[in-house]
Amino acid sequence: MTASLNALSRRALLTGLAASPALTAAAAPLAAQTPAAKTAAEQAQAVLKDAKGTKLVLLGTGAGPGGQGPERATRMMTSHVMLSNGAAYVLDCGIGVTWQYAQTGIPFRALRSIFITHHHADHNIEYGPLLVVGWINGMHLNVRAFGPPPLKQMTEGFLRAYKTTVDFWAEDLKMKPLVAIDVQEVSEAGLVTQDENVKVSAIIVEHPPVKPALGYRFDFKDRSIAFSGDTGASEAVAKMAKGADVLVHEAMYVPALETYIRREIAKGRPIKFEDLMTHMKADHTPVEDVGRIAQKAGVKTLVLSHLTPAVDGINDDTWRAAAAKNFSGQIIVGNELMVV
Ligand SMILES: [Zn+2]
Ligand SMILES: [Zn+2]
Repeated sequence: MTASLNALSRRALLTGLAASPALTAAAAPLAAQTPAAKTAAEQAQAVLKDAKGTKLVLLGTGAGPGGQGPERATRMMTSHVMLSNGAAYVLDCGIGVTWQYAQTGIPFRALRSIFITHHHADHNIEYGPLLVVGWINGMHLNVRAFGPPPLKQMTEGFLRAYKTTVDFWAEDLKMKPLVAIDVQEVSEAGLVTQDENVKVSAIIVEHPPVKPALGYRFDFKDRSIAFSGDTGASEAVAKMAKGADVLVHEAMYVPALETYIRREIAKGRPIKFEDLMTHMKADHTPVEDVGRIAQKAGVKTLVLSHLTPAVDGINDDTWRAAAAKNFSGQIIVGNELMVV
């Protein structure tokens, strides 16, 4: 194949990628190739196509980077996208964010801003790849990113590391290279940003030793959506989410977590049960407390996400019943590509 033909066919492939949310089957993670996941993607696309008003799509609903393997076949790491008036706002970038975003059918050119809650890998590890793959699929270079320090340095460092890769495509496809994006670091509570669709504010949450760890509230014209981020039970979250339409809160189901940890120890993983449970209780919120916080905030809808443990086999009713002990509103147990 000649060089120009080669370039042409690559261009055709990339155009195809941009046009089709399906990307290529070969690139699909195993979970996304199952018929159920395909159905979820088709459902999400259909809902978003006819959507009136702001929509939230849960892209990844599992906690932590751990438990990867057969026990965790369906839940990806944490990420979300909100679509409002044709603009897309991504919150958190765990592994899977790029693929799942594409699955929704939302074009990459719609991506306006990316928000990171905190610098744990299950929330930021695919931030750089989302930028590069997004750019090659039409993302505008004026996309903005918000999150705790050192997000500027992380962005610059990543784009420097991938300069050669970006430049190959930029030259080949006659595209303006992705060199830098506008990053705003957020280290305290208050207003983060505002545009014609949404006002975004942040709070500091409890997630030691990560400092700062943020929760966010998005006040769109037609609805407000609050995110706890990763946190131990926090009154600040109840206050932030006051009167919101939707609260997306991390949730931990302690009995299943204890069983999971004991099983891991039996398999030889070098962890101590008490140490790990002490950490988990300081850093995450038992689902019963999530219900209490949602009730205090008076939100209409509580979405349980960032589920701990992220293993399969805990049914939705178990999660829902535990939250419902203390919350009388609507409870949604998060699943991949669910549109709220
Ligand atoms: Zn997390
Ligand atoms: Zn975390």
